[in-house]
Amino acid sequence: MKRDDMIHPFISGNKWRKLKYNLLKAKELGKDTLITFGGAWSNHILAVACAAASAGFYAKAFIRGEEISNTVLDMCRLFGMELLFVSREDYKDKEKLFNGLQEADRSFMIDEGGSGTEGARGCSELVGELERQYDHIFVAAGTGTTAAGIAMGIAQEDKKSLLHVVPVLKGGGFIADEMLLLGANLQQSRLHLDYHFGGYAKVKPELIQFVQSFVRQTGIMIEPTYTGKALFALHDLLEKDMFEKGSQILFIHTGGLTGLLGQLKHFQD
Ligand SMILES: *Cc1c(COP(=O)(O)O)cnc(C)c1O
Repeated sequence: MKRDDMIHPFISGNKWRKLKYNLLKAKELGKDTLITFGGAWSNHILAVACAAASAGFYAKAFIRGEEISNTVLDMCRLFGMELLFVSREDYKDKEKLFNGLQEADRSFMIDEGGSGTEGARGCSELVGELERQYDHIFVAAGTGTTAAGIAMGIAQEDKKSLLHVVPVLKGGGFIADEMLLLGANLQQSRLHLDYHFGGYAKVKPELIQFVQSFVRQTGIMIEPTYTGKALFALHDLLEKDMFEKGSQILFIHTGGLTGLLGQLKHFQD
């Protein structure tokens, strides 16, 4: 397992990788404010809040839906981020929200989840850090930016690995389009579309049980929205004997453990 969850407690895993080149670009352009978008439990929003505080930016985030408070949003505020709650309708037009800000000209916009070419570029660097060859690499996908970056890294480093991408949403076929759009080549990638458990952030008892027993047996914390589903997929494919004996398999722990703060209710008994 590649422990990207250990990169930083708040700018966790793939979110750190996805922000790296966005922040460098914002600095290069002389911007002093980061503007981004997300849901109320977004790991990305918290990562931006912390990254902005660390790198000397102001930060604002448009949060989808009614004004609420929760532990993740409270931590964002603690990092000095300003939260602007907008209706689901208004949320759809991100350019309009951005351009409506008084400070738009000195602000840098980071897309929801940190997705985009800068994000993929940051994620591609993961592959160069690997010390040996893997036959199979597993990763969870929400927008597909991380998967695109890793696929690009595999191609750049001329690795033989096959990338297994596990969308955590229903109808995850769009992840392939997204990966292509970001410049990845899909020849060494496979999508596994049957491990969404009903949709984004949805769970089923077997997933909860799997997460629970994995955490208890390894001492490695995972959460059911991303890493839990992707590891479940790997475990299921192992049980179905889908890999040749002796295969070297790498799982990428993409972090996101602060998202657990909204999911602990599933583990209460
Ligand atoms: C955000 C997140 C993802 C999804 O990454 P994408 O680049 O949007 O596909 C995967 N795992 C974790 C833990 C995340 O927080």
